[in-house]
Amino acid sequence: MTTLPLVFDAPRRAKPPRHLADLDPAERRAAVADLGEKPFRAGQLSHHYFGRLADDPAAMTDVPTARRGPLVEAMLPTLLTPVRHIECDGGTTRKTLWRGFDGTLVESVLMRYPDRVTMCVSSQAGCGMACPFCATGQAGLTRNLSTGEIVEQVVAGARAMARGEVPGGPGRISNVVFMGMGEPLANYNRVVAAVRRLTDPDPDGLGMSQRNITVSTVGLAPAILRLADEDLSVRLAVSLHAPDDELRDSLIPVNNRWKVDEVLDAAWTYAGRTGRRVSIEYAMIRDVNDQPWRADLLGKLLAGRLVHVNLIPLNPTPGSEWDASPKPVEREFVRRLRAAGVATTVRDTRGREIDGACGQLAAAEV
Ligand code: SAH
Repeated sequence: MTTLPLVFDAPRRAKPPRHLADLDPAERRAAVADLGEKPFRAGQLSHHYFGRLADDPAAMTDVPTARRGPLVEAMLPTLLTPVRHIECDGGTTRKTLWRGFDGTLVESVLMRYPDRVTMCVSSQAGCGMACPFCATGQAGLTRNLSTGEIVEQVVAGARAMARGEVPGGPGRISNVVFMGMGEPLANYNRVVAAVRRLTDPDPDGLGMSQRNITVSTVGLAPAILRLADEDLSVRLAVSLHAPDDELRDSLIPVNNRWKVDEVLDAAWTYAGRTGRRVSIEYAMIRDVNDQPWRADLLGKLLAGRLVHVNLIPLNPTPGSEWDASPKPVEREFVRRLRAAGVATTVRDTRGREIDGACGQLAAAEV
């Protein structure tokens, strides 16, 4: 006798608590009114959260003491609790492992450079895209993060910066990249809402520039087209990794659904609509995708487009026999792309030694 999997009995997953960062300003006012409070309290709480980066209710002195507890509990519940921080580069690269309300683990990485501070955030716990070279892809998808859980990673980084916890003195987060765990366009609505929270001005949001936010995708073509219609000016990064379908089918399983030409067409629509240069991400994997002919083919596909190529030396992941391309091979790849007229840079591998670099986020507890 065969046993059927009990898919129909699967328990509905509990949702993260509702947080004001999940809501737009009108919804926040309505939520506060539902609690029997004056709607303007929503703006006060939002300013404490986004503008002042407060996490201690005692600092919210414009809210009557007796009302603070219930309001904070209902509108600013704890979403993520830090499990640990791991640092390298003298503390200027800092990875945080977070635990969600249901025990889910996710990671974010703060990177301070001389001219900018970048937060790399997760949009999902795990990832369902199963790219074989990426550590996150190996364990599958646990769940989508809520808008509040995504935003909270940035707010926490902004707090650490404001309080001078990162060497180099107090500062701000200037850039956010959706390059942590997960496929952001597979959690579309929450990611777009998070972008709005990050970019709405105080008190509604963090007031960051849309131009400094990057959404990185494996290439979900319909979702790229939908993003092009949002009237946002965020940067789009497409994880291409191969210029030909034969290889890309194996490196990016979702390529079996949306092929290279369809993904690139969507990217060109995005570039046309937003006027923003699209980033093409290309992990350099020794003897897999780094051949001169692939550089030439990639150059041909991209020449004359509003595009920039970011080569990423492959970061090793546990259990994989793949390795980064040797430097001379990488240099030749860059040379050929530039010869085709395609702007090309090589990304640094910050955070590699703390498993905090691209593709290394696995969120295991040790
Ligand atoms: N799901 C999104 C964002 C997450 S990863 C996406 O695929 O774009 C951010 C970038 O790191 C992607 O370009 C991804 O392909 C790349 N990456 C994944 N694993 C890597 C590894 N081991 N070494 C280098 N880059 C990697």
